[in-house]
Formats: sequence, structure tokens, C-alpha cells
Amino acid sequence: MLPIYSITPFTLLDFPGQTACIVWFSGCNMRCGYCHNPEIVKGKGKGTAEQVLAFLEKRKGLLDGVVLSGGEAALYKGIVTFAAQIKRLGYAVKLDTNGTRPDIVQEMLQNNLLDYVALDYKAPASKYKKVTATHLFRHFDETLSRLCWQDKVPFEVRTTVHTDFLGENDIGSIMEDLSARGYRGVYYVQNYVNNNKPVLGNLPAQKQMLDISKLPPPRGFTLEFRNFQANAPQKDGKNPHIFPDKQGS
Ligand code: SF4
Repeated sequence: MLPIYSITPFTLLDFPGQTACIVWFSGCNMRCGYCHNPEIVKGKGKGTAEQVLAFLEKRKGLLDGVVLSGGEAALYKGIVTFAAQIKRLGYAVKLDTNGTRPDIVQEMLQNNLLDYVALDYKAPASKYKKVTATHLFRHFDETLSRLCWQDKVPFEVRTTVHTDFLGENDIGSIMEDLSARGYRGVYYVQNYVNNNKPVLGNLPAQKQMLDISKLPPPRGFTLEFRNFQANAPQKDGKNPHIFPDKQGS
């Protein structure tokens, strides 16, 4: 199976402060019921790292950064080398990750291959299996610790909330954990939005939204909310997917 599902050639929304493209890696080691990218999680890749590098070569000077996303980009065996190649072309690199490969995150940090990380805090330990269909909380926990122990690379933490899975107490518990770890960045609580497209777990619409007025105040970090307005658009997967050989750059 080829590793790369597709490329979103341009985004202003997915890499803070940077114009970027998104490289979507196929495959994931989780099965979150609310996942908006089932075709990427279960699908086969169409392209190779070499094709992406050729695309990036042509985009030099037009884009600032590259988002490595998926699926789970950190599962790709060549991700460290690939990120190094991207950096050598002059791009900033952002990793979107579910945090289950602390060794890869550590290696990328040590080799100065990351400029930003977005880390999914899927659920507290007690709900992790329910949300992700895995027992990988310990791996996530290690990734979060490693990111908190360093201060060179900015990172954000985010939780998608479908209230069949998570409630106010669960988010409160995550917030308490972030405070205890000395997290100083932004914690995004993202409301699940049913956009009438299939999701991985055939999840029904939420019966009610999370009541954000019941959350405790954040201690030490910034709390922000996404998609809690009525009819809020769902950003995930909305950009066009292309592949370089069809790109006609
Ligand atoms: S939402 Fe879950 S299943 Fe979907 S790509 Fe992210 S970690 Fe994988």
C-alpha cells in the first residue's frame, strides 16, 4: 500500500501563521466513531513521498509550510526522513497526531524536524477505549509528557466532543490533567458536527451539545472552542484533495 492518500494543495487554516499544504497519510491505528475521514483511514494511498517532494519543489516560495496529517502520519515508516527532506526544501513542518507514537515525536523533536504539533487528547484514560477503540492511552500520555517537557516547539492540544462519548466531567478531567502538567498553550474543545457525510462509526447526531458553561476555568493554559455556534461549518476534510500527478502545477 502506498502511504499517501492525497494532498490538499493550499490552506490558510491548518498551520497557524503559515500558508501550507496538507499531506494526508492513509491508515490509522484508531477507529474513532466520529472520524470524518473514513476513506483515508481505511483507504489505500495513491502516491509516494517522492511525488510529494516533487510537488513541494515546484511550490517553493509559494507556501510556507507542510502539514503531515491523516489518518495517522506518524505511523508511516519513513516519516522522519520525509520530514527532513521537507525541511531541506525550506518548509516549516506541522504534525497532526493522535499521539500514539511518542518515539517518532521524540525523534522528530530531537532532530529539529517539527515547527508545530497538533495533538489529539481523545479522552481521559477511563474513556479512551470507548472513543478510540484502542488501549493506547499510555502511548498518548507519553507523547503529551514529551511535548510538555520541551519548550522549543509550540503545540496545541485538542479534543473532539460527541456527547454520546464525552461529557463536561470528562473535559474537566482533561483540563485538570493539562494544568497538572504545566501546559501553557491552547486547548481546543471541538464540537462534533454532523455534516451529513459518512463518519467512521456511523455515529448518530448528538442529542445535545456539550454545555461549555459547566466547564471549570482553565488554569495556566488558554481554552478555546470550535464549532459551538449554530450551523458551524465543519472544517475537517473540506478542502479539495488532489494528487500531484493530477495537479498540473
Ligand atoms: S479521528 Fe481517529 S480514526 Fe480518524 S484519523 Fe483521527 S485518530 Fe484516526
